[in-house]
Amino acid sequence: MTTPEQIVIVGGGLAAANAVEALRERSHAGRLTLVGRERRLPYERPPLSKELLKGDQEFEVAHDEAWYAERDVELHLGEAVAAIDADAGEVVLGSDRRLPFDRLLLATGARPRVPDLPGVEHAVTLRTVEDSLALRDRLGAGGTVALVGGGWIGLEVAAAAVAHGGRAVVLERDEAPLGRVLGPRIASYLVDLHRGHGVDVRTGVTVESIGPDGVRTSAGLVEAGTVVLAVGAVPETALAEAAGLAIAAPEQGGGIVVDEHLRTSDPRVFAAGDVANALNVRVGQLRVEHWDNAIRQGQLAAATMLGEEDAVYDWLPYFFTDQFEFSMEYVGHSAPGDEVVVRGDLAAHEFIAYWLRDRVVTAAMNVGIWDVNDRLRELVGQRVDPGELTDLRQ
Ligand code: FAD
Repeated sequence: MTTPEQIVIVGGGLAAANAVEALRERSHAGRLTLVGRERRLPYERPPLSKELLKGDQEFEVAHDEAWYAERDVELHLGEAVAAIDADAGEVVLGSDRRLPFDRLLLATGARPRVPDLPGVEHAVTLRTVEDSLALRDRLGAGGTVALVGGGWIGLEVAAAAVAHGGRAVVLERDEAPLGRVLGPRIASYLVDLHRGHGVDVRTGVTVESIGPDGVRTSAGLVEAGTVVLAVGAVPETALAEAAGLAIAAPEQGGGIVVDEHLRTSDPRVFAAGDVANALNVRVGQLRVEHWDNAIRQGQLAAATMLGEEDAVYDWLPYFFTDQFEFSMEYVGHSAPGDEVVVRGDLAAHEFIAYWLRDRVVTAAMNVGIWDVNDRLRELVGQRVDPGELTDLRQ
């Protein structure tokens, strides 16, 4: 592979910012251009449903303008890439301006899933800092917020609403929020935690429509001044699709299909972060929507775009959340049928959960017990005797 002269990165999120940093660290001396649809410089999204939403923290970008200037990055913010002209080796901006590339990184992330429900326009979503600040104002004004979906973001927003002194109703279609990810025991622990803080968690509920007065469900009207859609995200693949790149089927997680080097079906084009459905050499093909993955895949894409063939996607997925007293880190990749073994004290919010398949650890989560995640990471993939698993505090 020849050394690229001109690299274009599409998407102004964390994967993009980390690719910029790693490209310059790895001595890419050529032209480096970043095109981002949001007007803001890249920033971290986890605080948008936590500290920023609660009002405990003000908004910050990941790096300021001077940082990009020092790295000689040509920034096009508030501008979307409208098309990839693969034959010409150019991206076409919304303004019709064309930017040539030798390597192109698609780091276009994901957008909130909007279900096809009558009255859905009365609901809001949470993805950008503007969404978070607008929702913070609504939560600050009090009243009831209804969360359509009891995933991580839905539960975090419920916790933030309570922190503002408001009322939160979580509407979950399944038996328990996150039951398929966490298993019934920990899912019911989470329900108890939220109910203990006054969150009205309703499970087995189907949302039928949304209106200005709240949400109509299979179990009647839930009155709410604010309705938040929290039913997952959809990868932003439109550009890649139009350019004829391979896209994963929705049942495979969707996203742009890339190999273990994050290379798409066009060898000049790479994808990283939430939009990438990548071959993890330890876990298999998967799409991961987590902060740590956006950072590391941004860095990996930088290495592989510069021709480092031994750089591969080989780390385990990792994520974290904070809700009331529940503060955790999770590492690995479990499946719904895995056995869950819990060690420690659920009532004290200090425990470790292990996911096992045929006695092999597929994932582990430390809750309220810190500095153990690296040890848990080493256990993933190992065959264990469940009787010997502990909460690692001895
Ligand atoms: P994004 O951050 O989505 O950035 C992609 C950017 O590309 C966007 O700015 C988009 O506007 C832009 N773009 C899209 N199309 C185009 C185009 N055609 N032209 C130009 N620009 C384009 N993860 C955790 O591990 N822990 C958490 O606690 C956690 N909390 C979260 C809370 C919230 C509210 C959200 C929304 C996410 C959270 N995440 C969390 C997930 C994490 O933030 C994402 O995995 C991460 O932001 C993905 O980064 P990315 O760079 O791939 O994509």
